[in-house]
Formats: sequence, structure tokens, C-alpha cells
Amino acid sequence: MPDVFSKAKRSEVMSRIRSHGNKDTEQRLAAVFRAHGITGWRRQVRLRLEKTSSHPGGAVRPDFVFRLQKLAVFVDGCFWHGCPEHFRRPQTRQKFWDAKIARNQARDAAVTRALRRKGWRVLRLWEHELAVKREKRLVARLLRLLSGGGVME
Ligand SMILES: [Zn+2]
Repeated sequence: MPDVFSKAKRSEVMSRIRSHGNKDTEQRLAAVFRAHGITGWRRQVRLRLEKTSSHPGGAVRPDFVFRLQKLAVFVDGCFWHGCPEHFRRPQTRQKFWDAKIARNQARDAAVTRALRRKGWRVLRLWEHELAVKREKRLVARLLRLLSGGGVME
């Protein structure tokens, strides 16, 4: 896709985009669930968290929740969450972006810890794990988790 924005404009546009819960990735994962008969999930369920030293408390909305299995699934965008394979530091406003990504990662970790403290299992997927060529592996992992086994990575 050609880059239609100048770099400055692009930074501005990107800074307004929600940092997770990207519609395309959510729809892609929902399609994977449907294609493989994986049921029992809900989108955008609000879960209450207590205040802790690392989390301010309040509601959190995982991208998908399997209530019965108490499994919360997040799809983390490779850019916004600083994927080690795909994050590319923008050429401009590097301090701003470094701070922003670091904040996102700290919040991700705090949310994960707070959910686990409440007895939830948390699966964080990278956006790149939704690639078609990885689908088999992804589905196997999901099925393992949903059947009660498996180790969280
Ligand atoms: Zn990635």
C-alpha cells in the first residue's frame, strides 16, 4: 500500500488510532474461530479489576473472552505493542514513540497480571500470529487452551 501521508501527518494520524482492539485483527480472529468451529467467545466484554500497585483498577475489555474457560484473549498490534519482530521505530518523534510504546507495554503487562490475579488465563497474540500461514499452529494452541490444558506463553 502506498504511503499517502507525509511522515508528520502519519504520526498524527497514527496517534489517534486506538492502540489495541483493532477492527481488522479482531475480525480476522473471529473468522478463524468460526472457520474452526470454536464457540463460546464474546467480544468486548467488560471485566472488572481491583486496584493494585501496578494497575489502577476499573474495567478492562479483552478483545475476546471465553467466559466458561475463563480465558481472555488480546490481539496486540505489532506496531503499537512493540513486537520484537516487526516494530519499526518511526523516523520522526522517536522519543514520543518510544515512550508511547513503553507505556502500552507496561499497561499490557499490568492488565495481564491483574486478570491472572482474578483467576483468568490470558492469551496475548501478536497481530502477525493471525497470518494465514500460521493459522494451523494458532488453532492448535487455542484448542489446547480451551480444553483446559496447555501452557501460557
Ligand atoms: Zn509482529
